[in-house]
Amino acid sequence: MNYTPYIATTVQTEEERTVDAAFRELMNCYVNSNHRKHVEIIERAFKFAKEAHKGTRRRSGEPYILHPIAVARIVVEELGLGSTSICAALLHDVVEDTDYTKEDIERSFGKKIADIVEGVTKISGGIFGDKASVQAENFRKLLLSMSTDIRVILLKMADRLHNMRTLGSMRPEKQYKIAGETLYVYAPLAHRLGLSKIKRELEDLAFRYEHPQKYNEIIEKLSETEEHREEIVEEFVRPVKKMLDEAGFKYEIKARVKSAYSIFNKMENKKIPFEEIYDVYAVRVIFENDDDALEKLKCWQIYTFFTEGHRLHPERLRDWISIPKANGYRALHLTAMGPEGKWIEVQIRSRKMDEIAELGYAAHWKYKNGVQEDETELDTWMNTIKDILAHPEPNAIDFLDTIKLNLFSSEIYVFTPKGDLITLPSGATVLDMAFAIHTHLGIHCMAGKINHKLVPLSHQLESGDQVEIITSDSQEPNPEWMEYCQTAKAKTRLKTYLRKAGVELIEEAKKLENGTDKKDKQGENKKSLVRKILRNPFSSKKKGEGKPKPPIDRKQTFILYPDENEPNYHIDSCCSPLPGDDVLGFVNEDEEVVLHKVNCPYAMKLKSAYGSRLVVTKWGGNASKFIATVSIDGIDRMGILEEITELVSRKLAINIRTLNIDTRQEVFHCDMTVQIDTAEHVDHLCASLLDIKGVKFAKRTS
Ligand code: MN
Repeated sequence: MNYTPYIATTVQTEEERTVDAAFRELMNCYVNSNHRKHVEIIERAFKFAKEAHKGTRRRSGEPYILHPIAVARIVVEELGLGSTSICAALLHDVVEDTDYTKEDIERSFGKKIADIVEGVTKISGGIFGDKASVQAENFRKLLLSMSTDIRVILLKMADRLHNMRTLGSMRPEKQYKIAGETLYVYAPLAHRLGLSKIKRELEDLAFRYEHPQKYNEIIEKLSETEEHREEIVEEFVRPVKKMLDEAGFKYEIKARVKSAYSIFNKMENKKIPFEEIYDVYAVRVIFENDDDALEKLKCWQIYTFFTEGHRLHPERLRDWISIPKANGYRALHLTAMGPEGKWIEVQIRSRKMDEIAELGYAAHWKYKNGVQEDETELDTWMNTIKDILAHPEPNAIDFLDTIKLNLFSSEIYVFTPKGDLITLPSGATVLDMAFAIHTHLGIHCMAGKINHKLVPLSHQLESGDQVEIITSDSQEPNPEWMEYCQTAKAKTRLKTYLRKAGVELIEEAKKLENGTDKKDKQGENKKSLVRKILRNPFSSKKKGEGKPKPPIDRKQTFILYPDENEPNYHIDSCCSPLPGDDVLGFVNEDEEVVLHKVNCPYAMKLKSAYGSRLVVTKWGGNASKFIATVSIDGIDRMGILEEITELVSRKLAINIRTLNIDTRQEVFHCDMTVQIDTAEHVDHLCASLLDIKGVKFAKRTS
């Protein structure tokens, strides 16, 4: 089917032709989907957006409208949504970037579309902000907006995906920030939503911008080994193919490759080279099936084909058919011995299972005709997602882990019994919340109830608490209450009340002062973790020391000079980067550059929370000596230690500072600290160590 524009346009410029062609492609995708054909409203949305963004361009120089068109295309093609979402996608940047308001959109396109656009705008608002809590806040907004319309999230996901695909034209420090956010917020969210394909793409794109060199290395190695991998897989599936053919199956067998990002992660976490990642090999069997009742049976039938042809790993059978994963994933996994003694993971899926696994929600549309996206299907799916979010699997990606989020949050988010959200400073108590809702509640507050448990007025709230305020008309404040509250609002209201009530405050004020002192200290202790995290990255020394330095230009590449008596940067002890490492610079409060390794987990968090403090760095000058630790594992034999020390100190002329050896039976482990000048030299040292007979592992550990 082809889309024919209702209104013929008089095309004038080359650029207008490009825009029209992009829109036509979008419409072709739409009219070929199973959705109802609400072409007219989409055309209107396109015109509206085109007019609104007229004259503006993206950083790449192309007309801005191409971005909303691309996002709309992802929405229909990759997320499987319909006209409401397509319109909202076309209009998604109108409220944020142009003079049009939500009301303008509502007038032309109705409340639903206007609400979705507003939701997306709200999320975007926080993203490039400058506050420490931006990330967490933003993230919560994401989650909270889900409760009104899941399409807000899906649209934001499409927006992010397109921005990641076009990240190359952004300034480097923006690239880091956006890539960091993508890894920390969007990829885990895509995972939770069952959007595996989008999750993989987001991760790989982020990885590519964060570690371009390592990304290229892995991609290169993957393509180098491709032919061999195919041979192995071909040999492995040959007997199974025969059985599938004989049983009359229609099927497809894919040799699956782990994503570059997950290979990288495994290499880093397990400290193993590319060659040792065994599950680079994986095979997926997808069979056609037109009878749902037989789906499960067929999976097990194919399973038996593998048992006949191969030796199976007894502990690696995963039955996700009987009990699907929380995000809806269904498949049968097994691991079997392949050629050259390599274990190969096999995933058995019907076509439908495969599409749901890859596309999540989008796949559901494929099995329905003439659907309207606003209907119950969407609600059901949304409820499932909410359920997953409410009961996260214990060992799944902990993106809901409140502790982690609170590290960056000076605020907490609590709910009333009806589910209204109230924002309070961290450390706020039940009494603060009561006053935040209404003075009357504050004055008569007796206690609070959190998860059916009674707590006193002074109880400190935590993010996510749902709090009921218990009141009594006979209850009256007394001056001690001043100690129980944090917020200015509660304090002022309380003071006013007490003054009116004629309570003598002078004596109480003294008490209060002492009390407040005491309380602050307690508070300090409790929050010390948070404070440490918030303060450390940007303050390498106490305030007042030395003269204020001129501000560092965040847009310029900052050249690092390690070889001067006083390097022009600081090193964070959490990952102690060496000259030559891939590093990130953060500008601290004193306008000094503090370095982290790019893959330091702490830096990952900093990056997404303090993106505006990022500065792109480059190593300059000649490096002087630094300390690095190298871990060596191997099989013990006479004289091996001598060979190691001989190699390091004589042949390579590297100064060994300490040497710790631990031998257990045949195996020895050795930690060696050396004085060395660049990260490259450490790599060279490790490579040379591996040439010694018996050494199985040598890697820099700090
Ligand atoms: Mn956008």
